[in-house]
Amino acid sequence: MVEILRLPVLRDNYVFLLVDSAGGRAAVVDPAVAEPVAAVLQQQDLELAVVLQTHHHHDHIGGTAELLARWPQVEVWAAASDRARIPLQTRGLAGGDRLVLWGRSVEVLAIPGHTRDHIAYYLPAAGADGPELFCGDTLFAGGCGRIFEGTAAQMLASLELLAALPAATRVWCAHEYTEANLRFAITQEPENQELLERLKRVVKQRADGEATIPSTIGIEHATNPFLRCRQPALQAVTGATEAADVLAEIRRRKDVF
Ligand SMILES: [Zn+2]
Repeated sequence: MVEILRLPVLRDNYVFLLVDSAGGRAAVVDPAVAEPVAAVLQQQDLELAVVLQTHHHHDHIGGTAELLARWPQVEVWAAASDRARIPLQTRGLAGGDRLVLWGRSVEVLAIPGHTRDHIAYYLPAAGADGPELFCGDTLFAGGCGRIFEGTAAQMLASLELLAALPAATRVWCAHEYTEANLRFAITQEPENQELLERLKRVVKQRADGEATIPSTIGIEHATNPFLRCRQPALQAVTGATEAADVLAEIRRRKDVF
């Protein structure tokens, strides 16, 4: 059984630890910084075994070198096509690859848009453990990442790939942006009751100092405008009919919101 820990770091990043308590080991997703990760590993007497990288941005790979200095045997999983920008990788991956992490299967999904070589890690349900998704900066709770290196059509295809995962899939995205995302979303879809209720819930959670991550694919379907580009309400508000054009226009509006 793999337990997931969420560590808030920097201003609004989350680093996730996958802990195999029985084996005394852990994997870390996108260690922006090393120290808080090392502290938890030490506290819980865990060996670091794997670093999983979703993309090359510094607030995702920044702590990897220091963790490797301390645990030299660590495997670093990352997109093989981005070796120049994620140079510490020991296992180059591509969309469609399947790995096994302590009995849990891990599927690699290519999800370009935020960056050219962005990948996600999907763990299908296994026994009593539900499906889990680590999607970096592509799908956020209530939003999506900025389109730095891809096109709106690529981002749409990537988001639709994630949206096709089971509704119960927990979404572990890398930033606590949910409240700002939903405050924007409601301006685009003011009649969406589920969105309105989610916004209220999230405002309360944040006021109480609680994290809003993980979300689920089911919640995102109902309330995230970037997963709703084929909905008539969003076509109407953007004046576009093609889903990629709807996404491009909502993304443009969010960029200046
Ligand atoms: Zn990023």
